[in-house]
Amino acid sequence: PSGSEPAAKIVINLERLQQLPAEKAGPLARYAAAIQSQRGDYNGKVLSIRNEDLRSLAIIYDMSPGELSDQLVDWGVLPPEARIARALDE
Ligand code: C2E
Ligand code: C2E
Ligand code: C2E
Repeated sequence: PSGSEPAAKIVINLERLQQLPAEKAGPLARYAAAIQSQRGDYNGKVLSIRNEDLRSLAIIYDMSPGELSDQLVDWGVLPPEARIARALDE
């Protein structure tokens, strides 16, 4: 498919996210907490989010969606398979 959205499903590792320093993970952690609250989904170890949410988060982090997914893989918040989505970015 065309477009700039990574195709892989975005599944955030919430335990890893909590271990990261707030200056790195703060915006993502607040976004994930808001989604958990909206869903009433508080007890998971992972959180599936919308592809559209990765695009919004990329704007907040001043990156492309692919660059942000690479960053999240480097932090251990996304599994390494998510790096494949980078190829679809540009
Ligand atoms: P999956 O999407 O591959 O998710 C595998 C497991 O990861 C889930 O097992 C759950 O333990 C965890 N998980 C993934 N995303 C989230 C999340 O956003 N919040 C929480 N709390 N946990 C999450 P589970 O629940 O036994 O579901 C097994 C499979 O059943 C899922 O595989 C998915 O294919 C399907 N499924 C479960 N709930 C839904 C749903 O609400 N919508 C859809 N479309 N599929 C669902
Ligand atoms: P909404 O967008 O009006 O979605 C209403 C309900 O439709 C959701 O209730 C959920 O049961 C279902 N739904 C919508 N899109 C999807 C989807 O892609 N996959 C699955 N499995 N179900 C979907 P829920 O989960 O109680 O969420 C309530 C509201 O919270 C949503 O209303 C939305 O406004 C917000 N929300 C929840 N999760 C997310 C998210 O990952 N991203 C964003 N942007 N908003 C979310
Ligand atoms: P999923 O539930 O397996 O849904 C896969 C894709 O199907 C979604 O990718 C979306 O493109 C489409 N889809 C599923 N349900 C709906 C719906 O009610 N309305 C619309 N317009 N599209 C729908 P997407 O958006 O990237 O979401 C990825 C995953 O994030 C979903 O996988 C689900 O696990 C989670 N998710 C997204 N939004 C919600 C939500 O509002 N509530 C819950 N509980 N989970 C959500």
